Amino acid sequence: MSNSNFDPSACSGLSRRNFMRIAAATSALASIPVLTEAHMAFAQRPKFAASNRGIHIDANENPLGPSQAARDAIAAMIPKGGRYLMDAQFEINDTFAKIEGLDPNSVCAYAGSSEPLHYTVLAYTSKDKPLVVADPGYEAPMYAAKAVGAPVIKVPLKDPKGAASHDVKAMLAASATPGVIYICNPNNPTGTVTSPADIDYVVQNAPKGTIVLIDEAYIHLSDAPSSLHYVKEGKDVIVLRTFSKLYGMAGIRMGYAIGRPDLIDKLVPLGGQNSLAITALAAAKASLLDADLVPTRKKIIGDIRTENLAWLKSEGWEATPSQTNCFMLDVKRPGGEVLAAMAKKDIYIGRIWPAWPTHVRITVGTKDEMAAFRKAFKEVMSSSTAGLVPEPLHERIRETPFSYLS
Ligand code: PLP
Repeated sequence: MSNSNFDPSACSGLSRRNFMRIAAATSALASIPVLTEAHMAFAQRPKFAASNRGIHIDANENPLGPSQAARDAIAAMIPKGGRYLMDAQFEINDTFAKIEGLDPNSVCAYAGSSEPLHYTVLAYTSKDKPLVVADPGYEAPMYAAKAVGAPVIKVPLKDPKGAASHDVKAMLAASATPGVIYICNPNNPTGTVTSPADIDYVVQNAPKGTIVLIDEAYIHLSDAPSSLHYVKEGKDVIVLRTFSKLYGMAGIRMGYAIGRPDLIDKLVPLGGQNSLAITALAAAKASLLDADLVPTRKKIIGDIRTENLAWLKSEGWEATPSQTNCFMLDVKRPGGEVLAAMAKKDIYIGRIWPAWPTHVRITVGTKDEMAAFRKAFKEVMSSSTAGLVPEPLHERIRETPFSYLS
């Protein structure tokens, strides 16, 4: 969006009249809390395990934090913190659009991708329009669907001992009237990639009006090609991007929804776009403009992942062929026992997905963190963990509907 045709009510040109009407109709939905990776990781931590204690490889965070350019940009922005700097809000959409060759009206910045993920499900699913997801997959969209009473159809990943990719044919066959088909590429928690041909199959064969929601939170860490071209082609596709993973800005909060302007317009009244901190905007812009950042970090994280997957294999353990900063590890016993035993050593891993009860998700930490993980894991696995159970959900998050997620 350029400054000259600025419309205060919208990210992509929604009229004020429509905005008021839609806002009134959807205000109840907008008040439903957005469940994020942070909530789910925090919820499983024992009460004593604040994020500053022990080793946290349980939330797919990036321990490298923001790049130097992003840190410098934040510091330079601090003195301007008394201003709203609306220009910066538009610039962040324009910057991304220019880099990716997109229409700026199809790019909408948010404080992370959790919000547009949640809003897309709220806007496009209903009692008659289910959400179709892969299992195991990222749980947040299921929570949003539950909020609008939309059925959730979980489709097992294809070839779970191999590529563990989305079973796109089964996902399409799962419902005649899907509201949203959610493809997380690469997938959280497995880190595995779904092929361009399979993604194309979903996009080309989804019923008219169904949104194919392609979550590219981890795309920069993988060799998978982006699906942004579907937006340029005008398909019923919304792509999500975040700065929380490769860019190391999970706590700074920045992300994007990218889709045809008429699709994005339906998310706008649900909330979100007023909340962008100018420090986050500055850090995001600096990160996007740093051409070395993606390859450098992809290599750092990829090398640590490869080293640890190789070590696990040499010790006889099987893990998913991840291309991201997390993988699922088959511990061949109830995953909760291992999670609890590791927590006793102040190393926090997780989560566990009900569909794969003997697997635990491991986030790729720093070299030192992973060395500590390997030592503790070897000790844990060479002793009995029978009867150990993870601590109850953290009291501050206990209200979230984890029973539903299982
Ligand atoms: N999508 C996926 C698949 C994720 O794993 C996460 C975070 O872990 C998000 C979206 C949301 O990230 P954020 O709200 O920090 O941008």
